[in-house]
Order: sequence, then C-alpha cells, then structure tokens
Amino acid sequence: MKTLVCYSKENIKIENINVPVVGKDEVLIRTILCGLCGSDIVKIMSPDVKKPVKLGHEAVGVVEKVGPEVKKARNAVKKGDIVAVTHHIPCYSCIYCDHGNYSMCSHFRETNLDPQGFSEYIKLSGEHVKYNTFVVENKKIIKNVIFTEPTACCLRAVKRVDIRDNDIAMVVGCGTIGIIFISLFKLLYNAKVIAVDIDSKKLKYAKKFGADLTINSKKENIREKVSKFSSTGVDIVELTVTTPQTTAMAMDNVRPGGHIQIFAGPAAQHEISINFEHLYKKELTILSSYSATPEASKESFYYLKDYRLDFRSLISEILPIEQFKKGLDLALSQKTFKVLYYFDKNLVKNI
Ligand SMILES: [Zn+2]
Ligand SMILES: [Zn+2]
Repeated sequence: MKTLVCYSKENIKIENINVPVVGKDEVLIRTILCGLCGSDIVKIMSPDVKKPVKLGHEAVGVVEKVGPEVKKARNAVKKGDIVAVTHHIPCYSCIYCDHGNYSMCSHFRETNLDPQGFSEYIKLSGEHVKYNTFVVENKKIIKNVIFTEPTACCLRAVKRVDIRDNDIAMVVGCGTIGIIFISLFKLLYNAKVIAVDIDSKKLKYAKKFGADLTINSKKENIREKVSKFSSTGVDIVELTVTTPQTTAMAMDNVRPGGHIQIFAGPAAQHEISINFEHLYKKELTILSSYSATPEASKESFYYLKDYRLDFRSLISEILPIEQFKKGLDLALSQKTFKVLYYFDKNLVKNI
C-alpha cells in the first residue's frame, strides 16, 4: 500500500509498504480523505523534529476488515462502515489524566494511527475503535466530519478558559483554526467575536462565519477599533498565531482579569517577553491548550454531523496524494484554508 514518508522538507516520497495485519480487536480502514494539519507542516519544516516522521491524523475512511472481537464489542463497526478517526488516547489513570492534562499523558503521546493518516490503509487499535472512531451514517457529511480532529482541539481549548455567555472574544489569526474558534465562540457562548488578521480575504471568511467585528492589523489601529466595541477590553484573546507582535496585541487588548490563550506554539525555542507587572496588576491569566481528547472529538463529531458547525467551505483543495507537495506549498503560502488528500479517486467521487 502507499504511504507518505517525509525524510526532510525537500524529500517527501510515496513509498510502498505492507498493509498492516489486523489483530483480534483491531480494524483496518481504507482512507477516503486525510487533511493536512498545521502540526504536520511544523513536523515537516522544523529541523528539530526527527525524520522520518509520521504525518496525517485527520482521516475519514471506509472499514475494510474487522478483528473477531470487534464484532462482539458494544462499539462495533462493520465492513463497509464509513468512519472518522482521531489519533491520540489518554490512559485516564496517570497523574496528568487525573488533573485533566490529558495531552501531557505519555500514553496519549504514544498512541497514533498505524502507520499514519497519509496512508492508503490505516490500522486502528482496539483503543482507537473504542474511543476515537465515529461512524458516518451519510456519505454527504464526509467533507464536514473531516474537521473532527481540528474542531476537537479548538473545543477543548475553549472549554479550558473562563468564558461566559455574551462575552467578547478576540480571535487572532483567521486561518482554518481561527474560523473554527470563531464558530465555537458563537455556537457555545453567543460571544461577540472580534477577528484579527492581516489578510482581507481571511477576514471576509471570518465575517461569514459570524465575526461581529473584523480588524486588519496591518492597516487598522486595533486599540481604537476595539475601544469602540468595548471600553474595558476583551474577555478572552485566542492566539492562533503566537509571535512577539500578537502577544503584545493580546496584552494590550485584554481586559483586566481577562484570559489570553495560546493555541499555536511560537517558533521552536522562541522566547517572547511579557511585562509581569502588567500581568500581576491586571490579574491576567495566560494559558495554553494543546491537542484534543476523545470526549472533545466525540462532541465535535456530533456538531459537524448535524451541520451545527459547517466548515465545508473551508476546503480549498482536494488533491491526490501524489500532489502532496503542491498542497503543502499552497498551505505554506497562507492563501488556503484546508487542504485534503485522497489515495483512490473512486472513493471521493460523489461525496
Ligand atoms: Zn490536526
Ligand atoms: Zn494518562
């Protein structure tokens, strides 16, 4: 079967490997689509990430084979079922899991799709079948439930901040993740959302997805625009782009007692200075959120399957895996939202 192998950012190949053998409680799926995630791009581009590296985790596939014990399980899937899958599972018993820090759990970090999402076939472990596999009842929703994992990461983040109904949320960066945040702040808290980006096309999308105010931080005075909307500042700033500039912007616009959440990491080993006096006297909370949980995946899947969240218009390209580099370059150009890949064009017909 075909699988993508990244040896370096210049050397990404499709190689032929054996189809994984399915154990008693395991399932083999044939990949229909797999999304390119910002974290895949970091893994490809960063010299600090050991190569070759596993890529792809936002997958939807069709069940090809099931182990004998899967048939008996309560959460059984059967041959022919279409499923959306996610990749990490916490142990639910270590010190981190006990404190809700699921993504710090070593089991969480070790569990993954086998061999990875960008493969013609993917083996799901018994745990994956139990926690991270969601049956897609209608083919038509594939292009929406493909967003299950990124939505779950944002959903978990949103639930980790102290936000109340009708609060004001500023979302910095309006790529796919920023748009998902805007939609979640609206859906769950009916928040007033201020969207910030340097790209007017992305700000147009932000508006379409419910942003109440958009600010082009290259052209407009952020402070002035925010102050017309709220005299005290915003309750929460969601940083989907973390740089010295966006951090300063967050510190400048958050209200006393408010929250700043770091969703995307800054470049490796990048230090950003913060005025601690400002932090102390304004009683600010800075917190991060990394990755998703099976619970957040399940909840996200339900919002997506019922179109309570609808991200289909964020799909910019659906490419054959052979054109991986083309999609990567488009994503790197920052001009696209989501890029998806397929292995078999017959499986993406009429979806
Ligand atoms: Zn992802
Ligand atoms: Zn754990």
